[in-house]
Amino acid sequence: MTAVPPSIAQRAGALRQQLSRAQYEYYVLDAPVLSDAEYDRLFRELQDLEHQYPTLRTEDSPTQRVGAAVQTSLATHRHLVRMMSLDNAFDDAELRDFEKSIERVVGDAVHKSGYTVELKIDGAAVALTYREGVLVMAATRGDGTEGEDVTANVRTIGGVPLRLLGEQHPPLMEIRGEIYLPFAGFERMNEARVAAGEPVYVNPRNAAAGSLRQLDPSITAQRPLRFFGYAAVLPDGRVPARTQWELLEQLSHWGIPVAPHRARCDTMADVAAWAHTVEHETRAQLGFAIDGGVVKVNDVALQDELGVRNDRTPRWAVARKFAPDMAVTRLERIDVNVGRTGVLTPFAVLDPVEVGGATVTFASLHNADQIAAKDLREGDMVQVVRAGDVIPYVLGPVPERRSGSEKPWQMPTHCPRCQTAVVREGEDVATYCPNVACPGRQLEGLVHFASKDAMDIDGLSYARLQQLLDAGLVHDCADLFDVTVEQLVTLERFGQKSAENLVQAMQTAKQQPLSRLLFALGIRHVGAQAAQLLARQFGSMDALMGATPDQLAAVRGIGDIIAQSVAEYFANPSVRDLVERMRARGLRFDEPNAVQADGPLTGATVVITGTLPSLSRGEATALVEQAGGRVTSSVSRKTTFLVAGEEAGSKLDKALELGVEVIDEAELRRRAGA
Ligand code: NAD
Repeated sequence: MTAVPPSIAQRAGALRQQLSRAQYEYYVLDAPVLSDAEYDRLFRELQDLEHQYPTLRTEDSPTQRVGAAVQTSLATHRHLVRMMSLDNAFDDAELRDFEKSIERVVGDAVHKSGYTVELKIDGAAVALTYREGVLVMAATRGDGTEGEDVTANVRTIGGVPLRLLGEQHPPLMEIRGEIYLPFAGFERMNEARVAAGEPVYVNPRNAAAGSLRQLDPSITAQRPLRFFGYAAVLPDGRVPARTQWELLEQLSHWGIPVAPHRARCDTMADVAAWAHTVEHETRAQLGFAIDGGVVKVNDVALQDELGVRNDRTPRWAVARKFAPDMAVTRLERIDVNVGRTGVLTPFAVLDPVEVGGATVTFASLHNADQIAAKDLREGDMVQVVRAGDVIPYVLGPVPERRSGSEKPWQMPTHCPRCQTAVVREGEDVATYCPNVACPGRQLEGLVHFASKDAMDIDGLSYARLQQLLDAGLVHDCADLFDVTVEQLVTLERFGQKSAENLVQAMQTAKQQPLSRLLFALGIRHVGAQAAQLLARQFGSMDALMGATPDQLAAVRGIGDIIAQSVAEYFANPSVRDLVERMRARGLRFDEPNAVQADGPLTGATVVITGTLPSLSRGEATALVEQAGGRVTSSVSRKTTFLVAGEEAGSKLDKALELGVEVIDEAELRRRAGA
C-alpha cells in the first residue's frame, strides 16, 4: 500500500473538517456559507485524494455520507428503502466516463437500454409513503436511512396528491421527489421577511428545505412550495415499472407532478446535446432553479444489475452538473446609478466572477432598505445569483468571512452625477435626484427611448449613447435624428458601415407609431400598455396634448394618477419645445387602428358571447373598440347590447331577463360601420 505523505494526510483532514461543517450548515441549518461550486470543488479534491490513497477514506468522511443526520425536534422516520445521493459529471468527458463505468459491468446492454434524462431540481428531497394510494407519511432524506417526519407540512403543499389518481395502487410504496420553491415565490417570501425584519434565505433551495422543516405546519402552508416526483419504490426495493421513462409516465397518471423537458436518449452524445440545450436555453426560461440534469439508465433490470456504490450513490445514474448560477465573490464597493426618472439605484461593483456561464462584474442591489436589511458592507464576501435572463443580483453577505475592515454603506446625500441634494419623500423607499437636467437622467432616458419595446433603435447601445452624450452630439431624444454619418465616424469604435447603419436605424425609427413614441418619452407612470390605450383613444399627438386630465382619465384603463402625470408632462414648456423639435424632424405623430373619436359606437358598452359565424372574439372586440365602443365581460343594465353567436349560454339568458338588446354578427358589422 502506498504510504500517505504527511502533507497529504493533513490536507485530507482539513478537507474533511471543512466539508463536514459545510454539510451541517447546508443540510441542518439551511444556511450554507460555501457556494455549491466551492463545495463541489473541495468534495472532488477529497474524493481524488481518497482514491489515490484509500487509507484516507475514513468511515466518517463526508464523501461516504448522504446528507446529514437528523437534528431537529421533528420525529424521525425510517425510509422503506435507503435514499441515495448522486455522483457528479461536470462535463461531456465525465459523461463518457460514466458510460464506460457502466459498460464495464453490463457491456453492450446499456446501448440497447438508452437513458432517460430529467431536470435536476434544486430543492429538498422527500419520500412520500402511499398506502393503497393514500398519502400516509412524508419524510426528508436526512442521512438516507432516516429522515424527519414532515407529513403535516407536506399535506399543506397543493401539488402533492393526498390520494393518487386511478384505481390500482401498490399496497405500500414510496414516491420520491423534490420539494422546491419557484423563483417568484422565493422573491415574495424574502421581501416579506425583509419587511418583517427577519433574515433572508440565501437561495430557493435552502428556503424550500427550511420551509419544509418548520415545526408549525401553518408556516409551511404560507410558503408557495411545489413538488416534482421522479422515483417510486416498493418495500422490497423493486420499482413499479420496467423503465425509468415508463415510471415517469406512471407517476404522471397517478397525478404526481413530473418535471417538464425530460427526454429519452439512445446515446450518450444525445444526452450531452440535451444537457447543452437545457443549460444554455431551457434553464433561462424555467421559473424554478435547477443545478443540472440527471441521467439514468432507462432499463430498470439493468439498474438492478448495476446496483449502488458505497451505499451512497447508484451506479446507474449521474448528475450532469451545470455552471453554478450562484457564486461568492468580493463586493468591492457600492455605486449609485441615476435612472431616467431620477431614482437613485445602488448597485454592486464586484470582483469579476463566473456565474451561470457569464462573467459578472455588476449586480443589482435594489434599494437602500434592502442593503440595510441584508447588512451589506463594502468589502464583504457576497453571494451573487444570475438566474435565467434576470440581471445578476446580490443575495446577501457571508458574515462568517468578514475580516472587520468592511464598511457599512449609506445612500449619498447628493446626486453622484450632478451634485444636487437628493430627496426622499415620506414612506417612499426610493431616493430621487430632483434635477431634470441631470446628465445621469439624460443618459438613462435616452437608453429607454432607444430600447426594444420603445423606439427599437437597433445598435444604439448604452455605451454608444454615452459616447454621443460625451461628444456633445445629443442632449435629448430629438437630437438623435440630427446625428450624421460624418459626425459618427469621428468617434472611437465607429467605422463607415456601423455609422451608416446607426443613422439608418435612427431614421427608420421615426416611423414608429404614436404609442411607442409615448412610451419612449418616459412619462412617469406611463408604461407600454397605458401608452397604447392613450394613443389608440386620442389618435394623434396634438389631440393628446390638448386633452384635459378629466378627458385623459375617461379612457378605460387610465386612472387619475396616469392622467395627472400625462397632463403635467405636456404642460411643461420644455416638453412642448421637445415635441415641436420632433415634429420638425418628421417623427410620426399618429396611431394606426386608433379609435374613432366619435365613431358609430362611441359610448356603447358591448358584451360578446357564443361563437360568431366569422369573427373571432378578438376580432369582434377590435371592431367594437375601433368604432369607439367598449367591450365588457358581463351583462348588466348598463350594457348597450349583447352580440350573441352560437351556443350562447347564461349571458344570453341574463340579457333577455334584463331586457338588454341582443344582436348578431351581421348587425354588429352594420352598426360598427364595417
Ligand atoms: P445532489 O443534490 O448533488 O444530487 C442528489 C439529489 O438530487 C437527490 O437526492 C435528489 O434530491 C436530487 N434530484 C433532483 N432532481 C432529481 C431527479 N430528476 N432525479 C433524481 N434525483 C434528483 O446531492 P446531495 O447529496 O443532495 O447534495 C450534494 C450537493 O449539495 C453538492 O453537490 C452541493 O451542490 C450541495 N451542497 C452544498 C453545500 C454548501 O456548503 N454549499 C454543502 C453540502 C451540499
